[in-house]
Amino acid sequence: MHSPAVARRAPEITSRLPGAIDRFAGRLTNRLIRATPWQVMQVQTRTPIVSFTFDDVPDSALRVGAAILEARGVRGTFYISGGLAGRVEPDRTLIDAAGCRELAARGHEIGCHTFGHQDIRHVDRPAFVADLARNARYLDTIDRRPGRRNFAYPYNSGCLGKLQILAHSYRTCRAGGEAINRGPTDPSFLKAVEIRQPETHVAGLTRWIDAVVEKPGWLIFFTHDIAPTPTPYGSTPAAFERLVAHAVERGCCVLTVDAALDRMGLRGSTR
Ligand SMILES: [Zn+2]
Repeated sequence: MHSPAVARRAPEITSRLPGAIDRFAGRLTNRLIRATPWQVMQVQTRTPIVSFTFDDVPDSALRVGAAILEARGVRGTFYISGGLAGRVEPDRTLIDAAGCRELAARGHEIGCHTFGHQDIRHVDRPAFVADLARNARYLDTIDRRPGRRNFAYPYNSGCLGKLQILAHSYRTCRAGGEAINRGPTDPSFLKAVEIRQPETHVAGLTRWIDAVVEKPGWLIFFTHDIAPTPTPYGSTPAAFERLVAHAVERGCCVLTVDAALDRMGLRGSTR
């Protein structure tokens, strides 16, 4: 979700509000999108469903995160930005095409996270369409699929003027929002709960699993690295393992985003 250096490099940035004002504008935009859903699908399930998703994706999410899921016989969704492939940052290294191929071969879902990983509010429409096409070409060389992919917003930042493009191009689009998807749900702005530091926060996230068991719905988690010394946007292996174990042991159906939609008989966005 982070890596702002990519956004700084990009020539298409159309808004240059000061940071704090821009973040406020972003939160306001997300609220507006929630208040005026582009489309509505009904999330109804008797069995609680949990999806574990990863953004960007750091190599520890492949080496450690995917392995933790696989040890429990479940799989995750990995939202990839082609523009971050193989990128080395001070505190993490992003997977390249070979890493993505490995995830797909091991049964995980590969989703789209844009190519350039910019806040999409700051990209004009033609550049945005070109960016999505570029990532589709990148992902198609890794994991060609007949249907639409699922998408996650960089920085969980929505944009009213781009919902139509996204709804047309993707089965679902995942944002943040710290909530469970239940009942009427906008497929273009799925809600998700962040797994992030500190460790006490990660440990407390079992309450979300208890809540979705109590009143079934679709709980989507998102995170980044799974490392002994995680970034603020990740988790330690032990804490992540406890969360996955809790979901499985409490009888949740742990599924990729695509498989969760199939299980509920949902098409996603209707274009
Ligand atoms: Zn991201």
